[in-house]
Amino acid sequence: MISSRSLLATLKQTFGYDSFRPLQEEIITDALAGRDVFALLPTGGGKSLCFQLPALLRDGLTVVVSPLIALMKDQVDALTATGVPATFLNSTLDGDEARARFRGLHRGEFRLLYAAPERLMLPGFVDNLRAWNVTQIAIDEAHCISEWGHDFRPEYRQLADLRETLPDVPMMALTATATERVRADIIERLRLRDPRCYTASFNRPNLTYRVVPRAQPYDQVLAFLRSRPGESGIIYCSSRKATESVAERLADDRISAKPYHAGLTAEERGRHQELFLRDEVRVICATIAFGMGINKPNVRFVLHYDLPKNIEGYYQETGRAGRDGLPGECVLLFSAADVVKQTSFIEEKTDPEERRIARAQLQQMVHFAESSACRRVELLGYFGEEWPDENCGGCDNCLTPRETFDGTLAAQKLLSCVYRVRQRSGFNFGLNHVIEVLTGGETEAVRKWGHEQVSAYGVGREMKRGAWQSIGRELIRLGLLEQSPEKFATVGLTAEGLAALKSRQKITLTKPVAIAEKKARSRRG
Ligand code: ADP
Ligand code: ZN
Repeated sequence: MISSRSLLATLKQTFGYDSFRPLQEEIITDALAGRDVFALLPTGGGKSLCFQLPALLRDGLTVVVSPLIALMKDQVDALTATGVPATFLNSTLDGDEARARFRGLHRGEFRLLYAAPERLMLPGFVDNLRAWNVTQIAIDEAHCISEWGHDFRPEYRQLADLRETLPDVPMMALTATATERVRADIIERLRLRDPRCYTASFNRPNLTYRVVPRAQPYDQVLAFLRSRPGESGIIYCSSRKATESVAERLADDRISAKPYHAGLTAEERGRHQELFLRDEVRVICATIAFGMGINKPNVRFVLHYDLPKNIEGYYQETGRAGRDGLPGECVLLFSAADVVKQTSFIEEKTDPEERRIARAQLQQMVHFAESSACRRVELLGYFGEEWPDENCGGCDNCLTPRETFDGTLAAQKLLSCVYRVRQRSGFNFGLNHVIEVLTGGETEAVRKWGHEQVSAYGVGREMKRGAWQSIGRELIRLGLLEQSPEKFATVGLTAEGLAALKSRQKITLTKPVAIAEKKARSRRG
């Protein structure tokens, strides 16, 4: 076993660092002892070192699987510069260059080999792996193996065969993003053997999270930027067109901005990114294509112009703010119309499993956006991390707690309506339909199912449908109702919901933000 002292010595000599980041030393020690390891460290947590340092200290070759072709070259260049013999194989190399690297690998000249997953699985490559004295396998961005992750890549699936090809080689799976479910999926699919699992805290104490009702998004963005002159940041948009139009309008308003999306040429993307990194443009308006591997320390804000598709993506994107440890502001513009738009995109997907996952993820995102609870508690909870339920001082809901009201009567009405339509028809209906019944709607569906006969019909006429919608969604968040991830997103009572209905338990609800704001405005003016 290698002592802590000699690990530190290598850390200093080769990488120039004085100490380990959280969990690095434990992970490295386990890896050197030949254990399988699962490491969940936030972006910037120092995952690469976890396999690079053991690669230096043990004999043989470490194979690093990574989906990010552009980053492979950077990492290999950086290693080579510090005197670590490393190379990569991917589709960017021409035949001669690839052959030269193969010769080097056969001669045992390298300590690390970075390879794209599809490369490893090419016919004949397996024989090479067996011949190269591989002593460690590291799977970077391991969440790509899971459909439950936000970045599933089918070619990662084939990595399951590695265990058979190289049964005695210890494996390490690394990711910055994995829920409980994704974690289990990774461990199972890679067939990790009794892995030691490490998880670092995902909390980003210097980031403030806010969700703002989306009204005139461009004007809101402009006002935000004008209130923070000179600060640089990222605006994430859901479409290529939006990135371009927002960037153009900002330029017209004399705020330097460039678009970034996968439809631009590689040259344009490189140029815009470079201008942003060098602080020559203030704002980059980007699709999610932007960011993987971008390490700009002084990003002061991340603005979401549109609703992200899932919480993991949102966490990753906001995580690009404040890398230097100074305050970072994360603002999400949210509107119900956005949800409708995204739902229609989801329904266009052909694969039913994909649709189901996308719906469930969107529901979680909407819950996050509408929640009146601490954003930090919600975000970290999503990653399975508990956070003390106290004022975090860094989110809208903690800084300005939302007004609440006694919602017992309203909740009773809605819960009983859900209960009655189910009782009448034998199955659950969507929230929209339940609210039609509650507000005495005369739709075809109401007539078809005979729901004007149920006792809850029309008892909620005193409120608008929109208000009922937000109450319904809050009851889902409170766990009194549950929504299925199927197309019709039917709602049903949970055991708690049924108990609350029967016991007439007191239920406190939050005033929807939009309503609270309108009141405040009319009071002022
Ligand atoms: P991740 O892959 O987890 O996002 P990286 O491996 O790219 O993180 O590391 C992020 C940055 O932290 C890199 O610049 C790396 O050189 C640096 N780093 C890693 N480990 C340490 C350490 N022990 N001390 C100081 N800096 C470190
Ligand atoms: Zn908070």
